[in-house]
Amino acid sequence: MGKLFSVLKYIKGYWGYASLNIAFNVLFSLFSVVSIALVMPFMDLLFQKDPQFYVDAMKNAPTHFELSGESLKNYFYGLMSSYILQFGKSTAVVFICITIFILTFFKNLFRYLAMYFLAPIRNGVVRDLRNKLMKKSLNLPLSYYSDERKGDIMSRMTSDVQEIEWSIMQTLELIFREPLIIIFYLIMMVKISGYLTLYVLLFLPIAGLTVGIIGKSLKRTSIRSKEILGNLFNIMEETLGGLKIIKAFTGESYVQKKFEEVNQSFFKQAVRVYRKTDLASPISETVVVGVLMLILFMGCNMVFKGDGVLTAAAFITYFAAASQIVPPIKQITQAYNNIQKGVASEERISKILDAELVIHEKANAKPISEFNSQIEFKNVSFAYRKGDSGYVLKDINLVIPKGKTIALVGQSGSGKTTLADMVPRFYDVDQGELLIDSVNTKDLKIKELRGLIGMVSQESILFNDTVFNNIAFGITTASEENVIQAAKIANAHDFIVALPEGYHTNIGDRGGKLSGGQRQRLSIARAVLKNPPILILDEATSALDTESEKLVQDALSNLMQNRTSIVIAHRLSTIANADEIVVLQHGEIAERGNHAELIAKNGIYKKLCDMQSFK
Ligand code: ADP
Ligand code: MG
Repeated sequence: MGKLFSVLKYIKGYWGYASLNIAFNVLFSLFSVVSIALVMPFMDLLFQKDPQFYVDAMKNAPTHFELSGESLKNYFYGLMSSYILQFGKSTAVVFICITIFILTFFKNLFRYLAMYFLAPIRNGVVRDLRNKLMKKSLNLPLSYYSDERKGDIMSRMTSDVQEIEWSIMQTLELIFREPLIIIFYLIMMVKISGYLTLYVLLFLPIAGLTVGIIGKSLKRTSIRSKEILGNLFNIMEETLGGLKIIKAFTGESYVQKKFEEVNQSFFKQAVRVYRKTDLASPISETVVVGVLMLILFMGCNMVFKGDGVLTAAAFITYFAAASQIVPPIKQITQAYNNIQKGVASEERISKILDAELVIHEKANAKPISEFNSQIEFKNVSFAYRKGDSGYVLKDINLVIPKGKTIALVGQSGSGKTTLADMVPRFYDVDQGELLIDSVNTKDLKIKELRGLIGMVSQESILFNDTVFNNIAFGITTASEENVIQAAKIANAHDFIVALPEGYHTNIGDRGGKLSGGQRQRLSIARAVLKNPPILILDEATSALDTESEKLVQDALSNLMQNRTSIVIAHRLSTIANADEIVVLQHGEIAERGNHAELIAKNGIYKKLCDMQSFK
């Protein structure tokens, strides 16, 4: 049961609205009961009883007003009877019609008001959850995304959140509205015949039990269907991101087939979910109607006996009330199943929200606003997969003094990117330590540490936004002049002003409307604007043709002036001037020195240079 209402924790902060919703639901239930309860006795009065009897009863009633069902009923009967006597039966019918109409009007008004206050709750919960998920997604370490797939995370942010919305709506109604209606009618039934009602109460739990069993199995099915939906999102996400390659390799039919397979298995699972969800209400209705028929049989026999324990009119009212509890019971069972689906989704969402932030910031983390002396790798070892011996970096010792340029070279897969990723703490070192100005990076405020570092990588990461916003990314205070200045240093100004709307041109998804060299120069302009003391250039020119490489290389030289840089370059000609060249091999430093020294050494570096015919 605790689990069942776990979705309710998201209502926190909406209890104001929730109580209004509950209050109006209570009023709604009250009015729906009253409007039904009115008809029966009235029919009784019109067609059977002597109205004069009730008028007399009202006149003779004690003068002090008593708030009990009996006195209210007598008062109401008396009022009705005097109307009937005074205006005749047909006018009285008009009166009762108007009364019922007004009651119905209020009943529906309250229903609407209840929904009115539910709207901000259900949508607010969705908004809060999405915000929370987004915040968590941004805070989760990069390593999380190597294991989890983006599409699945997206499906949790959309479809699972939706499920919770439904579930919350249903929970509020399940706990407050429908049971109230049932209780009202049950009270009415007990008043008329406690004996018959005992039977109803004996049999109802059977319906409850069946529905409970279905609900459990539904939850499992629902989780499975959400997992498959996650796979579907993955394929969509990868497909849309890789359209060019899919077309180039004419992989359309392969991707389509893969998609259809997953879609088909989602279809199967979704059908199962629907069938199980829809099973609840017919089962509960059958059981409840079975109970009602038993009541009908027993009640009729009691009436036939004619001993006055149960009159025909009383039994008709009783039966009408009893049949009124069928719809809310159906509703509750349906709601129960939807809540089970919500609980399933809640579990999936919690997996993200509760995922561990592997990169922790210490409570007493030190601030760092400037970089003064050096970056130092001290016996650093690191593995992506913890526990096994597959170290990607092994016992690295490296000092990068302020203002110097260090180049990392080595075969692909030798650990260059990994080494560079340690500095901004994208990953934490497993052994040894990484010090900036002699302070362990693990002791520093993460945001401030990253604030000192600028990054330009092989893939320029741009967003579907204007040139201006892409350059000014993350720097809210950037002025137009600052941005233009940065673009000029990055050799980007000329091509930007030639764009249709200059700095306010939208560059398309991931900068798709620009050439590789242009994208790269925007990334460089972004780094120039950030003006960080430490620079990491990871294959910043590898993806470019010779001509744009020249432009980008110039831009990079401008950027690197007066900064401390870690440069990873595929083309060795670009790093020949570095203060120190570090050759990595299988995660270890194999050679180090400047260009001339390494050539003289005639080792790995020399071989690499020979392969590129670079002297
Ligand atoms: P380089 O930049 O020198 O080409 P990397 O530092 O990217 O090499 O990779 C070094 C090794 O680490 C490779 O063997 C690669 O397979 C592995 N690796 C890189 N990134 C990950 C990751 N996110 N998860 C697991 N292994 C990784
Ligand atoms: Mg790399």
